[in-house]
Amino acid sequence: MAKINPFEVAQRQLDECAKILKLDPGTHQVLRNPKREIHVTLPIKMDDGKVKVFKGFRVQYNDARGPAKGGIRFHPEETIDTVRALSAWMTWKCSLLDLPLGGGKGGIICNPKEMSPTELEKLSRAYIDQVWQLIGPEQDIPAPDVYTNPQIMVWMMDEYSKLMGKAQFGTITGKPLGLGGSAGRGDATARGGWYTIREACKFLGINLSKATIAIQGYGNAGYFAALLAKKFFGAKVIAVSDSKGGIINKDGLDPDKVNQHKTKTGSVINFPGTSPISNEQLLELKVDILCPAALENVITDKNVKNLKTKIVAELANGPTTPEADDILYKNGIHVIPDFLCNAGGVTVSYFEMVQNFYMYYWEEDEVYKQLDRKMTHAYQAVLKTSQDYKINMRKAAYVIAVKRVADAMKARGWV
Ligand code: NAD
Repeated sequence: MAKINPFEVAQRQLDECAKILKLDPGTHQVLRNPKREIHVTLPIKMDDGKVKVFKGFRVQYNDARGPAKGGIRFHPEETIDTVRALSAWMTWKCSLLDLPLGGGKGGIICNPKEMSPTELEKLSRAYIDQVWQLIGPEQDIPAPDVYTNPQIMVWMMDEYSKLMGKAQFGTITGKPLGLGGSAGRGDATARGGWYTIREACKFLGINLSKATIAIQGYGNAGYFAALLAKKFFGAKVIAVSDSKGGIINKDGLDPDKVNQHKTKTGSVINFPGTSPISNEQLLELKVDILCPAALENVITDKNVKNLKTKIVAELANGPTTPEADDILYKNGIHVIPDFLCNAGGVTVSYFEMVQNFYMYYWEEDEVYKQLDRKMTHAYQAVLKTSQDYKINMRKAAYVIAVKRVADAMKARGWV
């Protein structure tokens, strides 16, 4: 089967929205394409003394509403089209949450699982050496994404600061506490997602304390989603998975113990007291809430008819294809679209930048309060737009976000 190109998906989603908003063709064309792309070649002397050449990208999609913002992904199957798609979705996400930021994204084709810390540090610094003149707190602010973490952010921030000759904490977010990081950033994506799930459950009349959940992916987004489900709402996580496969226990899993097992063995599979389940089967479980929290294009026209969940809470970026989206809507499955559901990460990243700029750091409770306010407001706005226009939640989110970016471009005289 031909692989689905995520950037084509992102463009098709925008095209649908352009029709609803009756965007003029010029504005539509600008919004269909990234403003700037940087392609870099990174030669790294590996631990065995041999030089290995890596490819990396940074895409600045649109900065009409403020500097570009978006993560850097380290992945063996990274492609420029994935980075383009993710940078487009970052643009819509920042706009939907009404953050004064545009959208960007970066990536390096590499397998961090097969690299030593020394090699990863060299690669992180080499990437900054190539892109530093085009990033920075007033141009483009990177952050972590799949297989990048606070340590990698510190190496990158340090390299950028050295090149600039001064401390530049605000140039990268997702840093650890004590080095310019924000309280609450670690679980922000999942926590923000939960605020929107809470609102969706109120709307649908689902009692969260009795709800069942399946989560695909057990990294930053997936693990914290499981942990918070149990801790805050008493909801039951019955199945989780990672790249090696999944596990199920209908009586509920202990998210912390599963995480300890994953840390020890490298995977959630074979966790005692569970049965194995494939990633495909996990998506088709009868649960109240399904959280795709791994990669793109997992809910497609091939499997969408088999979904039995009431809510799809898209913590991952781009997990649903446009064909599947229409069927989900027809089947009455409530989708909390990716650039709403997973916007907690960039929202707290934005709080991190704000704190870096005024050199004063908030308590955790303050971060949670501000995050809840932003996420709840955005969810309610999307729900209302979806009802007013009689369109699905993703299209409604696009309508709000794209209109703001289009209005900013018009006001600035770009179109
Ligand atoms: P991560 O690297 O921490 O974890 C990724 C998880 O996905 C791992 O458990 C991995 O084993 C699993 N995985 C990889 N390939 C898989 C496959 N083929 N099938 C099933 N599982 C697979 O990454 P993350 O930060 O949790 O990001 C996950 C998703 O959430 C991505 O789409 C990312 O863009 C999105 N996201 C993350 C953040 C954030 O703050 N971390 C913010 C917004 C969106």
